[in-house]
Amino acid sequence: MTYTDLRSDTVTKPTPEMREAMAEAEVGDDVYMDDPTVNALQAKAASMLGKEDSLFVPSGTMGNLLALLVHCQRGDEAIVGDKSHIYLNEAGGMAALGGIHPHPVKNQADGTLALEDIRASIQTEDVHHTITRLICIENTQNVCGGIPLTAEYTAQVGKLAKENNLLFHIDGARIFNAAAALNVDVKDLTAPADSIMFCLSKGLVAPVGSMLVGTKKFINRARHLRKMLGGGMRQAGVLAAAGLISLEKMTGRLGQDHARAKSLFEGLKQVQGLKLEASPASNMIYFDLADRITLTENQIIEEMKKYDVLVDWAGPRRFRLVTHFWVDDAGVEKAIRGFSEVLK
Ligand SMILES: *Cc1c(COP(=O)(O)O)cnc(C)c1O
Repeated sequence: MTYTDLRSDTVTKPTPEMREAMAEAEVGDDVYMDDPTVNALQAKAASMLGKEDSLFVPSGTMGNLLALLVHCQRGDEAIVGDKSHIYLNEAGGMAALGGIHPHPVKNQADGTLALEDIRASIQTEDVHHTITRLICIENTQNVCGGIPLTAEYTAQVGKLAKENNLLFHIDGARIFNAAAALNVDVKDLTAPADSIMFCLSKGLVAPVGSMLVGTKKFINRARHLRKMLGGGMRQAGVLAAAGLISLEKMTGRLGQDHARAKSLFEGLKQVQGLKLEASPASNMIYFDLADRITLTENQIIEEMKKYDVLVDWAGPRRFRLVTHFWVDDAGVEKAIRGFSEVLK
């Protein structure tokens, strides 16, 4: 049985074209920087994001950690969203492994950090204080609803960083979703940042890997630290071959996932028992269960399987559904029908 899997876009399995490219990939030892496929992927990612260089890393979490480790010294402080992946979902790596102090700033409902809040959280020079070094934003902002942050907002954060001598990192796990949702070139969203991480392994459908992007100097230091963390991979071209297809073929089709998220949202609006919020801005829908629903989250997850649909909860009485390459129109219909039957 093939399920329609709406738990996340991380569940995307490689396409037949990716598997073929992986089988035929020209490879070398990437720790010696000898792997032509990895080198091609890194050059392409850097050029698409308008930066000097990039590094293929095993995961988004490692990419963000490397950015933090390069930009900050032990005891430095990084400003992060209180609903950001870096703050909530990276096992506290910045503090545990980098000795970097997170300074959480409230994520607004639109996914941004208010500029005045960022400004107010920058530490003054004082013997009691940490040294503020870095501002991190997340685009799209996952927990706030998969919301894209605009080029204008990003430029304002960049300006604020410069004025205060701070560095600026974007957790752009889904930055190509943001570019598609805003109908802009991804470069418009990355230009003000010193570094950007994005995932190949989510909506871009590759099986493994993320890219860290920035200046040559930044990437050289990140490569050194990647080896330290055990992330120096050898014939990684087998994986990079899929990543190249992500960049060439998958970045341009994300609008289809967003359109399906909208159809799913419209269908679910007709289902009694769900409290839906604003129409989805990218590939994610969040909703709460209406008060009258007595089924638990896990009962709903189990019941939905009977309709061939996998879903996951995002908090107490809260669900998140994510569309991606392997969710077609029929899958959207199945999910709507499943919820209407299960919540009857
Ligand atoms: C998934 C994700 C990451 C981390 O990526 P992994 O490859 O799962 O480590 C970082 N930031 C955001 C916003 C994400 O959604």
